[in-house]
Amino acid sequence: MFHLFTCLYTKFATRQKQQAHPITLSYNTRIAKSFSRLLGGLFFSSGIGLLAYRRRSLSRSGVAGAIITGTTTVGMGGWAWGLALIFFFLSSSLLSHFKEQEKASTATDKFSKGSQRDIAQVAANGGMATLLAFAHGLTTSERTRALLQAGYVGTLATATADTWATELGVLSTQPPRLITTGQITTPGTSGGITPLGIGAAVLGSSALGSVFWLLQGARREQNALPLLALAAGTAGSLADSLLGATVQAMYYCPTCKKETEQRVHRCGTRTRFLRGQAWIDNDVVNFATTLFGALVAISLSLPFLRAKQRHTNNNAI
Ligand SMILES: [Zn+2]
Repeated sequence: MFHLFTCLYTKFATRQKQQAHPITLSYNTRIAKSFSRLLGGLFFSSGIGLLAYRRRSLSRSGVAGAIITGTTTVGMGGWAWGLALIFFFLSSSLLSHFKEQEKASTATDKFSKGSQRDIAQVAANGGMATLLAFAHGLTTSERTRALLQAGYVGTLATATADTWATELGVLSTQPPRLITTGQITTPGTSGGITPLGIGAAVLGSSALGSVFWLLQGARREQNALPLLALAAGTAGSLADSLLGATVQAMYYCPTCKKETEQRVHRCGTRTRFLRGQAWIDNDVVNFATTLFGALVAISLSLPFLRAKQRHTNNNAI
């Protein structure tokens, strides 16, 4: 049914082709394509959102956030963009359930919200990606689109690297060290890093970049994508630890004698403010680092774009 509708619409758009001005025509086809992709994105992200809700990976508001993010990403970026987002989401959800029992005794206390993500968390991790996809859908300049795509891979790589590092890093047998002073700290503390966590960040960001590159048809002119993802994701996840060790709000539960990101601890006790800036919670930190990851990837992609431009100019001569 949906396919039939798309076919009819494309036929309608191509028929107009013969009469309309060439610019109007390509505009019409683009609108038709975006429209069918928006619908596809809506169906797809609703399906995934509801599935995640039933698996308790998303709260109700989280489902709404996932639908907005998924629809915009597929509709304005394309299927490769949407599927890369799904790769981030699925791998993160799987890893958060991985060795759940072992993690429960160590670090879950410190995460301010359980493994069920709400709309603020979805926006903190996927908001930047949604904005970049939106801008990509609006622009026609090839150069700007390439920059936005680099930013997109950078921001998603950061979100992926950070989640993988958090979920796998807490399983480290070595105690974490604070990124700022190198002091040994307890597992799950914001700002603590382990070789296992950094390895997970490197692996997660390269995996995201490679998946995105493959989904785009593994084209030679996009060979830099996995590398951009690796650099931006690793830098972004280290920036996350740095913010966690310095400015992020941390609290102390007097009952459990534990450091936490929560204002009210999971045991029910009101926590005491310990350090950091009160307004900088985990969501603010995540949004800042996904923005940082996008900027790193965009800056690193500039030399590649210049080289490509030179190549095109030389060929023209
Ligand atoms: Zn407590």
